[in-house]
Amino acid sequence: MIGFQLTDEQTRLREKARKFALEEVLPVSSHYDQNGEFPREVIEKAHKLGLMNLGIPTEYGGPGKSSLDSVLVVEEMAAACAGMTTSIYVNDLGAAPIVIGGSKAQKEKWLPFLTKELRLASFATSEPGMGSDVAGIKTTCERDGDHYILNGNKFWITNGNFADLYVIFARLKGTKRHEGLCAFIVPRDTEGLSTGKPLKKLGHRASDTAAIILRNARVPAENLLGGEGIGFMLAMMTFVYTRPAIGAMATGLARSAMEYAINYAKQREAFEHTISSFQAIQEMIADMYARIEAMRLLTWRAAWLVDQQADQHTSNVASSCAKLVGAEDAMRIVTDALQIYGGKGYLEQYPIQKLFRDAKLYQIYEGTSQIQRYVISRFLFKQYQPLMQGF
Ligand SMILES: Cc1cc2nc3c(=O)[nH]c(=O)nc-3n(C[C@H](O)[C@H](O)[C@H](O)COP(=O)(O)OP(=O)(O)OC[C@H]3O[C@@H](n4cnc5c(N)ncnc54)[C@H](O)[C@@H]3O)c2cc1C
Repeated sequence: MIGFQLTDEQTRLREKARKFALEEVLPVSSHYDQNGEFPREVIEKAHKLGLMNLGIPTEYGGPGKSSLDSVLVVEEMAAACAGMTTSIYVNDLGAAPIVIGGSKAQKEKWLPFLTKELRLASFATSEPGMGSDVAGIKTTCERDGDHYILNGNKFWITNGNFADLYVIFARLKGTKRHEGLCAFIVPRDTEGLSTGKPLKKLGHRASDTAAIILRNARVPAENLLGGEGIGFMLAMMTFVYTRPAIGAMATGLARSAMEYAINYAKQREAFEHTISSFQAIQEMIADMYARIEAMRLLTWRAAWLVDQQADQHTSNVASSCAKLVGAEDAMRIVTDALQIYGGKGYLEQYPIQKLFRDAKLYQIYEGTSQIQRYVISRFLFKQYQPLMQGF
């Protein structure tokens, strides 16, 4: 039995997210893109409406939404502004290691901290010298009585300058690769923690990206998530949960690119016809729609598998497929949409260039497209069982 019918509650949630995207995000998306300001006011509205911290269970004050609910919400938001959606959704990325690997006491302390009022969370694995290779983290942690001492630099951290809480990954001194990685809940006011200047970016300018500097930062041992050496697994489990959402954001952005392209093609004339009458343009638009449909199905399935608590391999590969196809197709669709705008697509005053700049990040963060292919191919060569006899 398979069904694609949303429940009434999910339909209402999607409508609420669409209304928020149309009324609160879209009208200011160009402003925040041009000024690079942090969109706190918009994030505050998302928080008030229950469109943030989606995966935090209700018992800890969150909306307690399923993974499928979350992809419905972020597709709508990203159709209005990718950068603001990242700024809003990163709280889920920051909270996920606590939801997945936190003790009851840690959940009771830190999840309501994020939900009671607007507080921001960041997730920090990446460093100046590594991003894809999570097992290559160089930031160290060392036990000192009832604390750990953290030293190192994190880089690329979304909402880094504004976060009230960070989940920071570090390795036990003297350990190598995956074995010694640990994850810590680190409050903003931790002595020895500071942040760098906001990094100037090609796109996603409505999201803050910053370095985190840790100099003998003392973190209570009770803030260690899941025990020593659990960090790598926790990071990977977090990505299984969050990658479908990136696929959904890519779907939302691509959908808007297609809608802009259709609208423009219907108006623009060349050779005494609207360009929508040319088969070359029609084919581009038809391909966009077909790909968007496929992107959405992949994200829904990946999110559904997370909700079903499917086995790790199945879920991991489905999440990587959703993110890979979402990111690659969004880039292709927005490139074609810009092409349909012709020279105007290249001008700042038209919206397509923003979508083009924003889309690129989906191929990079939360694991590059090459890393998603690595995850998928590793499964195919190691676990996949051929379905036909005799090969
Ligand atoms: C705007 C922005 C926001 C971000 N937010 C966060 C955040 O909140 N938290 C966080 O921790 N990180 C964040 N990141 C970091 C992001 O996850 C990394 O940039 C990404 O994982 C790639 O790492 P890297 O930049 O070090 O590239 P590298 O890992 O150095 O990769 C360079 C190139 O080599 C390829 N490559 C690497 N390894 C392989 C391999 N095994 N096989 C094939 N190709 C390979 C990559 O695909 C890429 O093309 C953010 C990045 C950006 C740009």
